Amino acid sequence: RSMSSVTIPPPACMLRPLEAPLRYLFGPGPSNVPPRILAVGAKPIIGHLHPEMYEIMNDIKRGIQYAFQTENNMTISMSGSGHAAMECAVFNTVEPGESVLVAVNGIWGERVAEIAERMGANVHRMVKTPGGYFSNKEIEQHKPVLFFLTHGESSAGLCHPVDGIGDICRKHNCLFLVDTVASLGAAPIFMDKQNIDILYTGSQKALNAPPGTAPISFNERACHKMFNRKTKPVSYLFDMTHLSNYWGCDGKPARLYHHTGPVSGFFALRESLAILAERGLEESWKKHKEVAAYLYRGLEDLGLKLFIPERDLRLPSVTTIAIPDGYEWRELLAYIMKHHQMEMTGGLGPSIGMVMRIGLMGYNCEKTNADMALNALADALKNCKKSKA
Ligand code: PMP
Repeated sequence: RSMSSVTIPPPACMLRPLEAPLRYLFGPGPSNVPPRILAVGAKPIIGHLHPEMYEIMNDIKRGIQYAFQTENNMTISMSGSGHAAMECAVFNTVEPGESVLVAVNGIWGERVAEIAERMGANVHRMVKTPGGYFSNKEIEQHKPVLFFLTHGESSAGLCHPVDGIGDICRKHNCLFLVDTVASLGAAPIFMDKQNIDILYTGSQKALNAPPGTAPISFNERACHKMFNRKTKPVSYLFDMTHLSNYWGCDGKPARLYHHTGPVSGFFALRESLAILAERGLEESWKKHKEVAAYLYRGLEDLGLKLFIPERDLRLPSVTTIAIPDGYEWRELLAYIMKHHQMEMTGGLGPSIGMVMRIGLMGYNCEKTNADMALNALADALKNCKKSKA
């Protein structure tokens, strides 16, 4: 046998067409992508360093500045999912040995704590059970270089208050990092007015773009810290010295090759930000609140209990329900998937076994969809009862 002959045959699965069913994505993400965004994702590819692409990236930057309510020049999208933004934020602003304070009240804080530990930071976790929240007084007791908080804690369904925390961080010369992956577009956030130093989100939740891009913004304080480091960040791909050049944020005349950005993903992200700009943030926040309130009523009418008792702390995009007595949550979810082609999910990390989650985000955030979700739940409750009371 010659070295050039193929010994592994083409796999049979590859000779069959791809199958991707239509599903109602009423979990915590990804959400359904509207036809308008799907359509731009199918446009012909252009080069990632073509002038037209730079224009599209400049538009994305403007779209993110609006969505984040910031004038920060250092505003870009990661080529990667929300985790890429989490790692970019931590890797660039923290050096090994520096101390990071993380608010852990669900899975996202825990993830960021682990990311910071892996790059050698000295991590302090402030821990609450899922759904718990932190007072500004508790936060003020620590002296880290970076404080992390999840705005929309999607594993618990909590929307954490942000007001005043940025000022505390400033007073202590600490950077304030906020995760809005699950909340951007669904609940108000004002990066500049709330003195948030680093803010990121994801494409696949209320923005309704496909997964794979993640907007992030750094203010002057964050830039000062990350561009005056003694050590280089551990990641080449996520190094903001390179990414700021790629996104035309470093004031240099030429944008150089760093990595090949996800061209179609950026087309889709631009379209999703355009839809948000046309619709307006206030309108989007109002709609999420109204539909969530409608869903709460319907859930209570079904005899279900909401996991977050304080209405004002509920995340409008992802609603958590306490698992009803006499049911197996996995069975309820499997029933809903099988009979209604609808995704709802269980908990994540520490909230597993505590909650079921319904996400109605952006394009999916409609009362008709809430009705469909309630109808599917009612059907599952009727058919999956374990103990006959
Ligand atoms: N933060 C929050 C609050 C999230 O809900 C998610 C996604 N579920 C992430 C971060 C991580 O994003 P990704 O899955 O896109 O990496």
